[in-house]
Amino acid sequence: MNLSIVVPIYNEEENIVPLHERVTEALAETSLAYELILVDDGSSDGSFPLLREIAGRDPRVKVIRFRRNFGQTAAMAAGFDAARGRVVVPMDGDLQNDPADIPMLLAKIDEGYDVVSGWRKDRQDTFINRRLPSILANGLISRLTGVHLHDYGCTLKAYRREVLEGVNLYGELHRFVPALASQVGARVAELPVRHHPRLHGTSKYGISRTTRVVLDLMTVKFLLSYSTKPIQLFGKWGIYTMLAGMLAGGLTLYMKLFEGMSMNRNPLLILTAFLLFGGVQFIALGLLGELNARTYYEAQAKPIYAVRERINLG
Ligand code: UDP
Ligand code: MG
Repeated sequence: MNLSIVVPIYNEEENIVPLHERVTEALAETSLAYELILVDDGSSDGSFPLLREIAGRDPRVKVIRFRRNFGQTAAMAAGFDAARGRVVVPMDGDLQNDPADIPMLLAKIDEGYDVVSGWRKDRQDTFINRRLPSILANGLISRLTGVHLHDYGCTLKAYRREVLEGVNLYGELHRFVPALASQVGARVAELPVRHHPRLHGTSKYGISRTTRVVLDLMTVKFLLSYSTKPIQLFGKWGIYTMLAGMLAGGLTLYMKLFEGMSMNRNPLLILTAFLLFGGVQFIALGLLGELNARTYYEAQAKPIYAVRERINLG
């Protein structure tokens, strides 16, 4: 098997047949032996019967049906776990990604890369609530992880399967796989891909995802640092905070002594101290909590999804 295509499906009934057609078309010209793994993430529309029907007439199509909605990352993780191809390509189920780009991604893998990440250079989503937050997020992710990509959020990527084996996904982490893989030495490339408006239906996400992604970014940053230098990570911010505190204290003292400003019940003073220390504590607690949760999941090898049934999978 050369290739496993993994597609999360959550209420995409109108897109499933076109998706199958386009994938079949795109790969007919190549001589690749492939499987198309469709993961039904607890759809409540007619998606599953359609998936079963397609899998009935095309043995290359494999279906995993979740017991409930576990989220896009879990659906992708289930597909990755089942994938047997040399290369694994995740893709969206609404045809915003173009299956015709897959051969190009594979060619790049054959140049010797372990991860090839799609870049939606001409992204077909609204600016203010989708593209703008993405631009900011990508800049931040690149800076924090040291792996510079224009478009972490693009689902269409290609991985050598070995790269995925050590990567445990949860939360919104699927988009950070290139950074996590790079930490263990994967060679990462980025390649412009096509992007289309959603074929049918509406997006499953609102602005809340941006917050979730930013919070998960902190986890990733922490995970990347944790294995080697947790105290450095926390210590650095601790020291900066203390320096900021000293600075603020010095300033306050100066104002009191030389400007005669009254510090008696000065709300700014209290507010600054509260925000500064409160914020740091929240972040630190959050990170420790995340780490704890992760240790818990990995220690008991708790799966992040539950499967109701599998089709065409042994
Ligand atoms: N998806 C999923 N589970 C969810 C939400 C979304 O499997 O809980 C799938 C969805 O069916 C689609 C992909 O994830 O195949 C991307 O979702 P969507 O197109 O809604 O996101 P957007 O393109 O707007 O970022
Ligand atoms: Mg979409």
